[in-house]
Amino acid sequence: MGSTGSIGRQTLEVAQALGLRVCALAAHSNVKDLEQQVRAFRPNLAAVYDAQAARDLRVRIADTNTKVVTGMEGLCEAATYRTADLIVNAVVGMVGLKPTLAAAAAGKDIALANKETLVAGGALVMDAVRLRGVELIPVDSEHSAIFQCLQGTPRKALKKVILTASGGPFFGKSRAELQTVTPEQALQHPNWHMGKKVSIDSATLMNKGLEAMEAGWLFNVPLEQVEILIHRESLVHSLVEFADNAILAQLGVADMRLPIQYALTYPDRVPGLSQELDLTACGPLTFAKPDVKTFLCLWACLSAMQRGGLAPAAVNGANEAAVDLFLRRKIPFLRIGELVLAALEAQPDAPATTLDAILEADAAARAFVYRNA
Ligand code: NDP
Ligand code: MG
Repeated sequence: MGSTGSIGRQTLEVAQALGLRVCALAAHSNVKDLEQQVRAFRPNLAAVYDAQAARDLRVRIADTNTKVVTGMEGLCEAATYRTADLIVNAVVGMVGLKPTLAAAAAGKDIALANKETLVAGGALVMDAVRLRGVELIPVDSEHSAIFQCLQGTPRKALKKVILTASGGPFFGKSRAELQTVTPEQALQHPNWHMGKKVSIDSATLMNKGLEAMEAGWLFNVPLEQVEILIHRESLVHSLVEFADNAILAQLGVADMRLPIQYALTYPDRVPGLSQELDLTACGPLTFAKPDVKTFLCLWACLSAMQRGGLAPAAVNGANEAAVDLFLRRKIPFLRIGELVLAALEAQPDAPATTLDAILEADAAARAFVYRNA
């Protein structure tokens, strides 16, 4: 799911290298790339969220045996495809929530890149996963690193998780210096080539805030057990500290194909596409505290994590709307953090126990941002 995106394309590379059968693909509207993927991977099903684009794809691939479906129903059909063992959720945004819940209910293991889903609907997703006893395997590099470091140690020995952050393109900058930055500058990530939304999230440090909440759900840790450190080199993908103060880290070159592959082969490890890390050539590894006064999105996320309930869904929804506005040059860069924080303050405290409540908080936060932009 999200096969035409940055993670989606790399997942298909890994699947091809490992000789895995791809039985369903899903995307929003990029039918040009979907057509190529259908021809290369011959899936049984292709889900295209946008109805017009779905019609277009149907015509383009009329000579194949791939069935084309559309809308949220189509996404859920792809996420629960009969012969699939595992679904890779790499769509962007909280549109991935319903298909993830559907996949878990259908007994599919889930490799999750789509962090917004866990941020907004963590309680529901974790319940669904537990209920059906399916695996939820992180693809996000930090969470994959933590997941890898936790193998073989009882969970009760975990003292804290330490998420590393590259700091993005604006590390060390003051609010004054950030006043006039453009979408082009914000999209220039120093170490990773990613989709637009996650690239902006990296520039605002929203990404690390979302990841703190994602870690909270995946590893069952409260805010006090999540530390965030800026690590400019992006070689230590994250760390865990145990009760005895031992710290374990996972290192590797910055290449998402490694965590993607691990999610597909877990608990096994096999040779893959990513390169060896030459420790003698990579220079010193540095770590520093993040600046939450400049990067308000991170501050908003940590507050939302502390509050719990619908607060995470609100900051996530507000951010999706604010990033959309920034990319369309409707608001300046710093306004993203201000709007996310204001939307959080406007969100009343309430539990996130139903899908309707989560979707409502998400919609309210988006509306708040569009209204106050
Ligand atoms: P991209 O923007 O590159 O790709 C997004 C994908 O989602 C595209 O295939 C897009 O389809 C699809 N999509 C968007 N909306 C819908 C929808 N309504 N229905 C179906 N498909 C949809 O994003 P990334 O690959 O960079 O990121 C995907 C997720 O992974 C995000 O949650 C991100 O935070 C996370 N992530 C990404 C990393 C990276 O290195 N890129 C690293 C760690 C996590 P279309 O092309 O048709 O628009
Ligand atoms: Mg990450």
